[in-house]
Amino acid sequence: MTEQAVRPEPRRKVISNPYLYRLQRRHFLLFDILPIIGTVGALAFLAVYPFGLTELTLLLSMWLLTGLGVTVGYHRLFTHRTFKAARPVVAVLAVLGSMAGQGGVTSWVALHRRHHECSDREGDPHSPNLSGGGVKGRLKGLAHSHFLWMRRHEYPNIAHYAPDLLKDRMLLKIARLYHYWVLLGLAIPALVGGLVSMSWAGAVSGLCWGGFVRIFVLEHIVWAINSFLHMFGTRPYRSRENSRNGGVFALITLGESWHNNHHAFPESPSFGLEWYRLDPGFWLVRALAAAGLAWDLKVPTEERKQSLRIVKTPAA
Ligand SMILES: [Zn+2]
Ligand SMILES: [Zn+2]
Repeated sequence: MTEQAVRPEPRRKVISNPYLYRLQRRHFLLFDILPIIGTVGALAFLAVYPFGLTELTLLLSMWLLTGLGVTVGYHRLFTHRTFKAARPVVAVLAVLGSMAGQGGVTSWVALHRRHHECSDREGDPHSPNLSGGGVKGRLKGLAHSHFLWMRRHEYPNIAHYAPDLLKDRMLLKIARLYHYWVLLGLAIPALVGGLVSMSWAGAVSGLCWGGFVRIFVLEHIVWAINSFLHMFGTRPYRSRENSRNGGVFALITLGESWHNNHHAFPESPSFGLEWYRLDPGFWLVRALAAAGLAWDLKVPTEERKQSLRIVKTPAA
């Protein structure tokens, strides 16, 4: 036997097969198309049941909780390890992130780490800049990066991209129960809506606004980072891809719209980088740190920030 024959195959970075494609199509229909239908249904349901304070509270609170689960949990903690957190915080953030319906934590982390590795080059799962030039190419790129890529894509090998998560039994368990967390995220607003109004119609209304519309709104906010903020916006820092900042969207994206900052300093739990740039995700990290529940915040130094600034500010 030659040495070549006994040497193990190099680990594959991505996997593609018909079984995975089937799972991706099912996830796309259930978690990406269904919320659109649910949102249309919610609007139609307004004809028989009014949008009241309960619906508004459910929509905002569920959006905020699951949105923080994605940006602080999935993104800043699990993908980039920008800080360390107490185990109960880890568990709560992973569950809240799962409720958003954007995939189990291990898949999300692996896909996003691959995005950073290949950003705007071949292998990036969702770049808007690889679909050709001209208006047609740009529109095609935007549609692809916004959500069409999810119909079918190369699946990043978790063993390669997220070995740290594979060692965390609690996170693996939470990831395995992903579908139940999404269902819980639908059941809670339905239950609250039903109890507050003491009616089945109130339960349906709660499900619609705190469930489907909330998933729809948060998904499109998160996807807009992948699509629009790799094409339009400001670019204060040098980074090898075409990431941009969209400061006006800072509040509604919970800080995620400082996307150029984030690509330039992926190790930073702060995406705004300066105190005056709104970054609700970082406010939560700071609050957790103040309570002793988070530590080792890897905020970049002034020198490091200056070293990557495209227009350097004059030395004081
Ligand atoms: Zn990232
Ligand atoms: Zn990006």
